[in-house]
Amino acid sequence: MQRDQMDTNIAVLLQLHVLEQRIKQLQSQLAAGPLKQAGLERELAPAREELRQRQAMLEANQAERRQMDEQIQELRLKISQFRSHSAEVKTNQEYRAMLDEIGYAEREIRQREDRILALMEQSEEIEKQIGAASEALSVQEAKRQEWQRAWDMEAAEARLAQEQLIAQCEQLRVQVEASLLYRYDRLAKLRGNALSELEHETCGACRVRLRPQFLQELNNHPDRVYFCEFCGRILYHQPAVEPPFTGDVQLAAKEHGLGAGD
Ligand SMILES: [Zn+2]
Repeated sequence: MQRDQMDTNIAVLLQLHVLEQRIKQLQSQLAAGPLKQAGLERELAPAREELRQRQAMLEANQAERRQMDEQIQELRLKISQFRSHSAEVKTNQEYRAMLDEIGYAEREIRQREDRILALMEQSEEIEKQIGAASEALSVQEAKRQEWQRAWDMEAAEARLAQEQLIAQCEQLRVQVEASLLYRYDRLAKLRGNALSELEHETCGACRVRLRPQFLQELNNHPDRVYFCEFCGRILYHQPAVEPPFTGDVQLAAKEHGLGAGD
């Protein structure tokens, strides 16, 4: 390999690393959405439960009112049956017994009418609570929907950016010598960052000082690609970073340090 070619290879790998880091960031950004979504759903649960309980109370109230109404109808029917048989009553004793029965049924009716009034008052109160609970819920729902709309846009942008970055990576990958690219991929998988800058005779990633013979060799044959003897990363000198860059320049500048990937 010629020196220029070697520099190009490494320069391209450095660009590739920056783009791949950005892709990873986008991946975690995209993964955070569903988590946030689930959290917001959980936050809605108490308000939904509150509303459900109030609605169940209202239903129970209405069911009891219907029951009271039915019982009143039955009692009224009983009273009119007693009255219609009053002509058949022969003795005073029978007559008094019949009046007692009617009196008892009338008291039963009044009790149920009182209960119906109490239930009506209670249902007004429950309806107010339902109104308040459903308003509170819709405020929360609106917030969730607002977040959802913003997130949908953010996620769409992130996916688009991801696709573009993947395409750019593909363009870069074909420029790198196959065996070097293979090694780069394996190291990237293993250590997060396959590249390491040579800093004052030291591997910038694992901080191990390189042997003098190794450095001698490096100076004698700058056309070769070197790997850190300790961590195995691809070593590079800073000047290799100045090639024409096809990706996001600002991003590249920001992530220029690359950092140790372990
Ligand atoms: Zn190293």
